[in-house]
Amino acid sequence: MLVSESTKILLAESEIPSHWYNVQADLDPPIDPALHPGTLQPAGPDDFAPLFPMSLIGQEVSRERYVEIPDEVLDIYRLWRPTPLYRAHRLERALDTPARIFYKYEGVSPAGSHKPNTAVAQAFYNKQDGTRRITTETGAGQWGSALAFACNQMGMECKVYMVSASYWQKPYRKSMIEAWGASVVPSPSVDTNAGRSIREQDPESPGSLGIAISEAVEDAATRDDTKYSLGSVLNHVLMHQTVVGQEAKRQMESADAFPDVIVGCVGGGSNFAGITFPFVPDKLAGRDVRFIAAEPQACPTLTRGRFAYDFGDTAGTTPLLKMHTLGHTFVPNPIHAGGLRYHGMAPLISQMVDLGLIEARAFHQRSVFAAAVQFARTEGIVPAPEPAHAIKATIDEALACKESGEAKTILFHLCGHGHFDMSAYESYFSDAMVDYAYPEEEVSRAMESVPAV
Ligand SMILES: *Cc1c(COP(=O)(O)O)cnc(C)c1O
Repeated sequence: MLVSESTKILLAESEIPSHWYNVQADLDPPIDPALHPGTLQPAGPDDFAPLFPMSLIGQEVSRERYVEIPDEVLDIYRLWRPTPLYRAHRLERALDTPARIFYKYEGVSPAGSHKPNTAVAQAFYNKQDGTRRITTETGAGQWGSALAFACNQMGMECKVYMVSASYWQKPYRKSMIEAWGASVVPSPSVDTNAGRSIREQDPESPGSLGIAISEAVEDAATRDDTKYSLGSVLNHVLMHQTVVGQEAKRQMESADAFPDVIVGCVGGGSNFAGITFPFVPDKLAGRDVRFIAAEPQACPTLTRGRFAYDFGDTAGTTPLLKMHTLGHTFVPNPIHAGGLRYHGMAPLISQMVDLGLIEARAFHQRSVFAAAVQFARTEGIVPAPEPAHAIKATIDEALACKESGEAKTILFHLCGHGHFDMSAYESYFSDAMVDYAYPEEEVSRAMESVPAV
């Protein structure tokens, strides 16, 4: 059978990319620098040194086009990379579309998502710089479990501050974190000043990502042997994800295909960067390829947020990043795509939206779950709620092709499976799921908290 008609396109282990691609080398104008929260002057390496190892701080501002992937990282990538690229023959038939649909599947990683691509790299550079222990926050547990896995592989300690509501309601990812030997506490915890003071005000606090960030940062900043790690948003995190798009490009080439459209979901922007950034040089060279970012109507950062300097956390203690933001005081509705409930967006993605290189679309969660179920019933894989947004956008594109009769080639990122998200499906099947759109007056109110810079 021709590779171009295959269902699954695989690469050999020897074809795992040897370098990460750094889009900062090609972005003109470059992104604006992070600002110190006190002085509002550009933040320097020293401002980040208590939290991150120097090697990662260097990657954050590097304009080098390719960064070599260390052997130790490649060796761990081999546990699940290269990941498969699929041709969605069955979905295409169900949609009766002339479009060709491909998807890159990162659900085969140990943690079940794309997140280990950066977790392993971050654990490696930390270890190399003498870090013994890493702290982080996690919402539903996807990032916490990926970092726990990576630290275990590197022989390091890991402590995860998990949003209390999820800790008690979604115990399976918590147990995965423990299975990989990390410790996990419900946040707010009694282990930090930030956690204790929230608990004094509200002993029943369900926690939030903002609170958990404050705890993880305080823990890292107050111990010499400990650093902090972030699973999205920052430049180096997005760069580590570019193994995904580089592999996909090679796999499509072997099927004689090149995408007209690339689709991904956006929370902080890392999986979207992973699949699209390696195609940026082609786009800048004049190749006709569109990038579509799919987000929830309940957290419409790119479609309704403002492109401005804002804090990364609720408390307003992190450096300011120039990004699309709904305001750092924004509290999203408790929708089921937990990974897409962040007020901000990666500065690199934001800049590319501003330059017109990326289009953004927002979807209601019921239409997203309808797409997820159609995908499960055709392609078999049960997707996580986050990439189900990308599936919804892909189906819309494929149906537009049916209207117009165009045989476009669509590539989307299936960045994780939904095996730990079945309570969300249950809510959809029992008709308990409701659609939220973020009200305009709340957008305006939260924007008042954005500092004037
Ligand atoms: C964390 C996560 C996301 C959101 O984060 P990005 O940085 O935008 O990729 C999306 N999908 C899955 C499966 C995740 O685990």
